[in-house]
Amino acid sequence: MTVTQESPRTYEVRTYGCQMNVHDSERLSGLLEGAGYVAVTEGETADVVVFNTCAVRENADNRLYGNLGHLRPAKVRNPRMQIAVGGCLAQKDQGEIVRKAPWVDVVFGTHNIGSLPVLLERARIEGEAQVELKESLEVFPSTLPTRRESAYAAWVAISVGCNNTCTFCIVPSLRGKEKDRRPGDVLAEVRTLVDQGVLEVTLLGQNVNTYGVEFGDRLAFGKLLRACGDVEGLERVRFTSPHPAAFTDDVIAAMAETPNVMHQLHMPLQSGSDRVLKAMRRSYRAERYLGIIERVRAAMPDAAISTDIIVGFPGETEDDFQATLDVVRESRFANAFTFQYSIRPGTPAATMDDQIPKEVVQERYERLVALQEEISWAENKKQVGRTLEILVAEGEGRKDEATRRLSGRAPDNRLVHFAVGEETPRPGDMVTVEVTYAAPHHLVADGAVRELRRTRAGDAWQARVAPQPSGVLLGMPTIGRPATSPSSSGCSAR
Ligand code: SF4
Repeated sequence: MTVTQESPRTYEVRTYGCQMNVHDSERLSGLLEGAGYVAVTEGETADVVVFNTCAVRENADNRLYGNLGHLRPAKVRNPRMQIAVGGCLAQKDQGEIVRKAPWVDVVFGTHNIGSLPVLLERARIEGEAQVELKESLEVFPSTLPTRRESAYAAWVAISVGCNNTCTFCIVPSLRGKEKDRRPGDVLAEVRTLVDQGVLEVTLLGQNVNTYGVEFGDRLAFGKLLRACGDVEGLERVRFTSPHPAAFTDDVIAAMAETPNVMHQLHMPLQSGSDRVLKAMRRSYRAERYLGIIERVRAAMPDAAISTDIIVGFPGETEDDFQATLDVVRESRFANAFTFQYSIRPGTPAATMDDQIPKEVVQERYERLVALQEEISWAENKKQVGRTLEILVAEGEGRKDEATRRLSGRAPDNRLVHFAVGEETPRPGDMVTVEVTYAAPHHLVADGAVRELRRTRAGDAWQARVAPQPSGVLLGMPTIGRPATSPSSSGCSAR
């Protein structure tokens, strides 16, 4: 479907929430570019603004309606403008969005993102808002065209939806039961990406450890990791989000024995108290969680482990909280995403008794953050003197008067700011450096770059940023993107 002879209409996708949404937004941009739209130039107001929403945080609703309110004057000024709302909040609120914001043109859900271009055109022709949602997945999002954010690192969805029923989480009711992609499809996409210059992929699912249940292979995830090991040119494999209840030893062995699978694990704990884990319906206990950590470290002593923790879940006592601090002390996490529990309408926990007062949650949260900060820093200090190969990222590193630095990720996904020598590496290239300083949340390498390895990923990035005919901008500007690194959880703790 092509847009009429006028200059191509511009689009912008605003992404909120987890990695699954970031991945879906790449599809939404791919769909729109496939329909003849072009990415808007930064700072301009696009002809089509798409909100890919998150429904997790209590104030997710307020934020969406606030942003829609801000856009209304622009729409009055530009009658060609269209506004579309998709994602989890659209799946939850459905027609309510058009009732509250009648200047919205399209509402689509998490199961039918492929319908966006058709719905936009129908709304334009009929001059009427289009609200279309599905109760189950129409097509696997990975079969849709995509406009990837990065030239050298990519998300590859292996499943969507979740079969768990954690009491604080709204994902199962909005993204449905788990649907698994066949390993052949996943590997075909991975090979295509590597052919395009990508050298790092993150396998994505709400719960990657149950991957394969749908097609009857309990060991499918470990096998998939090993199969990624045979993909020529693929240098780094990561995955998110594992679940402690379904985490099996074959996955630990696959991580340890497959050279391009990184020794890095982001495994949500949520709470260290067995009583709270039971109330959260997380179907594992602290002992099992610590057992997995122990076996991972035995197989990969250099592994960096990070997690998600919720503080202040309904009914959490000081003893429960102490149990969380104990698990944190014992786990020695490299990093932790910590959250204050907030009521999520539509979840069982929202109506539980004994909601904890905000000031109590805040005080506990501060104690947890202080403890984890101490541990992160101590674990980072152990990296000083290590020689690491860094995948160079986009954007400048932490610089000061004397030193220009770029930044990138170590194999264990730690953030490293390194001093730039005579030659400037491109995003996607690899540099070998020695760590000279450790901060709580990043490392610094101020010595000379030991080796600069130009890669096909660097070439792909260069080809992407090379000057294009006027007005066309490659890559997609996203606003409201979560400040998270690719490895943080696809699971909905936030
Ligand atoms: S928290 Fe994660 S595992 Fe639990 S229901 Fe939500 S998506 Fe599934």
